[in-house]
Amino acid sequence: MPTKPQTGKRTVWRGPRLRDLPSVDELLRSERLRRLAEEVGRPLVLAAARQVLAGLREQIRRGRSGPEFESVLAHLPEEVTGEVRELLGLSLQPVINATGVVLHTNLGRAPLGREAARGVFEVATQYSNLEFDLGKGARGRRDVHAGKFLDRLLGAEASLVVNNNAAAVLLALNTLAEGGEVVVSRGELIEIGESFRIPDIMARSGAVLREVGTTNRTRIGDYARALNKQTRLLLRVHPSNFRLEGFTARPALEELVALGRRRRLPLVEDLGSGLLVDLSGQGLAQEPLAAASLGAGVDLVTFSGDKLLGGPQAGIIAGKKKLVERCRRNPLFRALRVDKMTYAALEATLRSYLRGGLEDVPALRLIRLTAAEIGERAEALRASLEKDLAGGAALSVRAGQSVVGGGSTPGYSLPTKLLVIAAQGMSPAELAARLRRAHPPVVVRVEADRVLVDLRTVFEDQQTALAAALRQALS
Ligand SMILES: *Cc1c(COP(=O)(O)O)cnc(C)c1O
Repeated sequence: MPTKPQTGKRTVWRGPRLRDLPSVDELLRSERLRRLAEEVGRPLVLAAARQVLAGLREQIRRGRSGPEFESVLAHLPEEVTGEVRELLGLSLQPVINATGVVLHTNLGRAPLGREAARGVFEVATQYSNLEFDLGKGARGRRDVHAGKFLDRLLGAEASLVVNNNAAAVLLALNTLAEGGEVVVSRGELIEIGESFRIPDIMARSGAVLREVGTTNRTRIGDYARALNKQTRLLLRVHPSNFRLEGFTARPALEELVALGRRRRLPLVEDLGSGLLVDLSGQGLAQEPLAAASLGAGVDLVTFSGDKLLGGPQAGIIAGKKKLVERCRRNPLFRALRVDKMTYAALEATLRSYLRGGLEDVPALRLIRLTAAEIGERAEALRASLEKDLAGGAALSVRAGQSVVGGGSTPGYSLPTKLLVIAAQGMSPAELAARLRRAHPPVVVRVEADRVLVDLRTVFEDQQTALAAALRQALS
């Protein structure tokens, strides 16, 4: 009888053979896996053991051998434990954003404030009045939530919350213009991210796009000449993620408002970010204020909940009551509506605005951090790392730029201080990859031969974990 390797122990190795592998049962009898099965249940450990053994069988068939392979064979229970951890690992997890991009589209855009997160927890873990009128003791509507705060903050007659701004634009166009024409300036036929393109959304809404003007110059007369019996609405789009400079022209909002009124056509403005407070002190003067657009006479505005507003992913439609009501009655609204968790997070975020507590909205707090404040933390991090690493990497702090991101404020940046890391004998790409494997993963900027850490987007309570990840990756 050939002797099989005892699990967890080295045996004399004569090159791998299929019959040298233990059976699943033998493997599961090892002390380590017995304990693991008590913790996470036998079915999961069994599945992982089968997977590991199948992998090894495949490798043996292909004639694999060598020290790495032997080491796996010698540590089978550890391999299975690793596989179980992998199976149980969550796909979506927190990361440390050390890029300095405040509204990072790939990293979840706006982080929620504590009040908003608490609101989500309370509403999500208990029953709520999501669709119940507490006054009447009867069935109520979910779309009343957040309305009170939105109407007040925006000076709107009514408002409606959907899944994201793309949904808001789709719903507004479908409701108000299906089967008719929508007039848009050529300079505003934008693409956001990979999949939001005004012409595509327009087609899906059932409205026909009527382009007017040229890429760089469109005048009010261009709009006026395009109007006909089929025209249903005028659409203005904020070109959020690029800037047109030089020989350009765009009618004033007031001219469009006047044209819409004269021809009895609603004017809808897709604002993108939906800034609620004046941040021109932070250099965000080019971002339109949602309330200013409605104040100027725009009939409906649409914007995102998780860009400069700093709340959950959502799309907001606000403006004239009659038009908002039509959107609400559209059967598409049922398909685009949001969950109770979104209402909870949005209401708590909006309440922070009403109270003037902008420090409670993380995105706004991070945008307002000064380079001096960030520099102090960067110096402290540099000093602490230098003490431990004793020369394994060159560390310095220098001036740099953070960006707002999220398809807003193109070409504008916020002054910051960066921790610059040049590791010895390790490429910046390798260091960045190591940092992404940390717990929690750390995402940094890589520039030429250096790794850049921008603490603007690293929360203070993450700084210890960041330092530990850097120490580990550099050692
Ligand atoms: C970001 C943006 C959108 C899409 O918003 P989402 O909330 O990501 O769906 C639409 N229009 C403009 C102008 C934008 O900036």
